[in-house]
Amino acid sequence: MERADTDVLIVGAGLAGLAVALATNARRRVTLLCPNPPPASMASALAQGGMAAAVGADDHPALHAADTMRAGAGQSWLPAVVLLCTEAPAAVAWLEARGVRFDREGESRALHLEAAHDRARILHVGGDATGAALTGALHRAALAAPNVEILSGFTAVSLARDSARASGVVAVARDGRPIAIRANDTVLATGGLGQLYSHTTNPASACGDGLAMALRAGVRVNALEFVQFHPTALACAADPLPLVTEALRGAGAVLVDEESRQFMQSVHRDGDLAPRDVVARAVWTHVSQGRRVWLDATAIMRAEKRAFPRVRALCLTHHIDPERDPIPVVPAAHYHMGGIAVSVDGHASLPGLWACGEAACSGVHGANRLASNSLLEAVVFGRRLGAALSAARGWTRVSPVRPGFVPDESALQLDPKIWPELRRLMWMHAGIVRDARGLLAGLDELATLYRRTPRQQILLRGRLSLAKGLLTAAWLRKESCGAHLRADDRAGAPRHAVRQLPMRLPSGRP
Ligand SMILES: Cc1cc2nc3c(=O)[nH]c(=O)nc-3n(C[C@H](O)[C@H](O)[C@H](O)COP(=O)(O)OP(=O)(O)OC[C@H]3O[C@@H](n4cnc5c(N)ncnc54)[C@H](O)[C@@H]3O)c2cc1C
Repeated sequence: MERADTDVLIVGAGLAGLAVALATNARRRVTLLCPNPPPASMASALAQGGMAAAVGADDHPALHAADTMRAGAGQSWLPAVVLLCTEAPAAVAWLEARGVRFDREGESRALHLEAAHDRARILHVGGDATGAALTGALHRAALAAPNVEILSGFTAVSLARDSARASGVVAVARDGRPIAIRANDTVLATGGLGQLYSHTTNPASACGDGLAMALRAGVRVNALEFVQFHPTALACAADPLPLVTEALRGAGAVLVDEESRQFMQSVHRDGDLAPRDVVARAVWTHVSQGRRVWLDATAIMRAEKRAFPRVRALCLTHHIDPERDPIPVVPAAHYHMGGIAVSVDGHASLPGLWACGEAACSGVHGANRLASNSLLEAVVFGRRLGAALSAARGWTRVSPVRPGFVPDESALQLDPKIWPELRRLMWMHAGIVRDARGLLAGLDELATLYRRTPRQQILLRGRLSLAKGLLTAAWLRKESCGAHLRADDRAGAPRHAVRQLPMRLPSGRP
């Protein structure tokens, strides 16, 4: 088997992986491993809505933190939330120093409103091209950094351990060639797991593979049951389903039913700007009864001809005229709040192992992520992780990776019956509304699928084990909470706990 060595190995070159690479001291040799070079195969480049940061004259990190805590339904970890929101303005400046130009209104940065934010604090680049612009700028900076190498064309399939320490990964090239990469520090930045569901907005790369590798290596994971469903994916036959950005509702678009009736006002006092889980559930309630739902953005599209160019282009591709026709929408798996349990510096439970971005669970999102907080999390916690790696001693002597097996091209293969079956059962049993019977039935089906999966299909086996972890966590959490809705919770409606924060406002303005 081919072998390679590096100092810091980052698995995944999305926004989180790129931010970690650029924030790591230039004295450390960094290798970014990914199946395809950025911006391909990643969620970051698809992000349309924007990035949240309390940079407005009427805003403050404490207000941003209060909104984040409220969305998290009492499950967010306050110290991590405070760091996220306090360091957000510095993250904005850091991105600007790397060539990002946020959209402007006159001299100042333009700020937009999004669901569950109590004021306009969402930054955009190029209207709805924020994720692509951020990733593009950091990718260019990474290409120019002499200590950063991007190794594309490889998929990591297994984490390597050197007694009690992570020591790199085993990866497989597209042609099936295995490679063992030894590293002093290994960072998992492999993104989310939306593709485990048959209805998702996530790209094909978001299968939770990094999280599955961590699980297999006995690393601590957290909050697996908390999956956020986006209320407005375009109702069409594509996979992934294209997203119709929430920013449209922030700008005044409304959800309507078959009789053109707006229904969100009767569901939540914030109407169409209610928390994402509330809106997703309301849309799901309609859809599961065989009814249809549309997002009526015709007024905005007519009034602001240059706004939302991506949504416009998407609609036209699907023969919808957004100035005249409401857009048909369905809910879809969108974001995983759970992940590899990490400290605020990104350290996982195994020495030498770190995680960042959607693959990690830093505790900021709790049971429900606040819109536009995940690009921010990738940058803020990516920078913190890079700083921790810079301060770390490095140069620990790890022994060469000795995999217990040598993978081949079948490691990346997905059995054409089992993979779609896994995705279907996740949507059926661990989707928007869950109950004990469905979750246990899902676990039974998973056990059968696992037995039928060839041993060599390592990625698929990992995904089945991850699905089992998610279903089990969802079964164990008997009560509804945030995005986790248990239909069999006797107490009824999900909790949206924290309203008042017992928290001192940091002094001074950002
Ligand atoms: C359609 C859409 C719109 C969104 N809009 C917004 C928004 O407006 N604002 C916001 O804050 N958030 C948004 N999000 C969420 C946000 O984009 C993601 O949470 C965030 O970008 C995740 O960044 P990441 O770097 O952790 O993962 P990603 O950007 O997904 O990057 C993961 C990287 O890991 C690689 N990888 C995966 N598995 C392996 C493996 N086994 N081996 C090697 N490499 C691997 C991938 O190829 C990729 O390079 C959106 C998400 C989607 C899907």
